[in-house]
Amino acid sequence: MRWLIAVFMLVLATASLAACGSSTGDDAGRRSGPTVVVTTTQLGDIARAVASDRAAVEQILKPGTDPHAYEPRPSDLRAIGDAKLVVRSGGDIDAWLADVLRGAGSSTTTITILDTLRPRREDPHWWQNPRTAVIAAQRIRDALIAADPPGRDAYAAGADSYVSRLLKLDAAIAGCMRRVPRADRKLVTDHDAFGAYADRYDIEVIGTVIPALSTQAQASGGEVARLVRTIRSAGVSTIFPESSVNQQLTKAIARDAGASVGAALYSDSLGRAGTPGSTYLGSLRANTSALVKGFSDGAVDCELPG
Ligand SMILES: [Zn+2]
Repeated sequence: MRWLIAVFMLVLATASLAACGSSTGDDAGRRSGPTVVVTTTQLGDIARAVASDRAAVEQILKPGTDPHAYEPRPSDLRAIGDAKLVVRSGGDIDAWLADVLRGAGSSTTTITILDTLRPRREDPHWWQNPRTAVIAAQRIRDALIAADPPGRDAYAAGADSYVSRLLKLDAAIAGCMRRVPRADRKLVTDHDAFGAYADRYDIEVIGTVIPALSTQAQASGGEVARLVRTIRSAGVSTIFPESSVNQQLTKAIARDAGASVGAALYSDSLGRAGTPGSTYLGSLRANTSALVKGFSDGAVDCELPG
C-alpha cells in the first residue's frame, strides 16, 4: 500500500499544480459552508440532507460500485485535502480510507459512524436499519455544527426534517412487513449485508451465497451445496441477488434449489440516478417492496411514504 500512496502523492502534487486556483468541486463554490467528504453512497445521501444548502458534500464511491472492493484514487486524496470534515461508514466497508488518510498526512477531523454506535457492531452494514441512520444523521449534524458553528440552524433543520422522514418510513416498513406471516420471512441474499434490516423487521436470515460480511470472501463447493439443501428444507421460495454484487452464483443456486430469483436488493450501494434506489429512502422502499413480494409470492405489496 505504501508505494501506492507514494504514487498518489506524486499525482496529487502534479494535479494540484494543474488545478491551481480552482475550487474543490462543482458544488463547493456555490456553498457558504465547509466541504465534507464522505465515503459511501448512503452516507452521501444522508449528509446532503443534513448539509441542506450550506455545506458541500463530496462522495467518494459512485452508485453501483462495491465498497468492499474499492481501490482509492488520487482524486480521493485531493478531496480530503480540501475538506474540513471526513465521514466514514466504518469497518470493512471503507477500511481503505485509513491508508489514504495516513498517506495524505491528513489531520482533517474524521468521524466513523460504526464506531459511534453503542454497542459497536461487528456487522458494518448499519444503514440497513433506518433507526441507525437516524443516529448517523445526528452524528453528521453534530460534526457539521462543530466544524461550522454559524451553520447550526441550517444543519439542525436539515437533520430534523430528514429524521422525521426516516422514522415515518421505518414505521411504514414495519407495518408492511407484518402483513407477511412470520414463518414466510426467510431471507437468502448474496452476502451477509442484511442482518440489521432482518433484526429490525423480524426476518430470519437463512443463509448467504457468500458466507461472510464482506463480498471479498468466496463460498466453497461444500458451502454452496449446503446452502442449496438449506433453502430446500426451509421452504424458501425466493432468494435475492444484490445490485452491486455479481449475481451469477445466486441465480445458479436458485435454479438448483428450485427457488425464484427476486428483484436485486440495494445492499452496499445506492442505485444510479433514475433507479428506484438512487436515494437512501428510495433504496429502503425498493428493498422492502422486493422482499415482501418475494416472501409472499406476490400476495403482499405496500405503498411506502417518500
Ligand atoms: Zn457488504
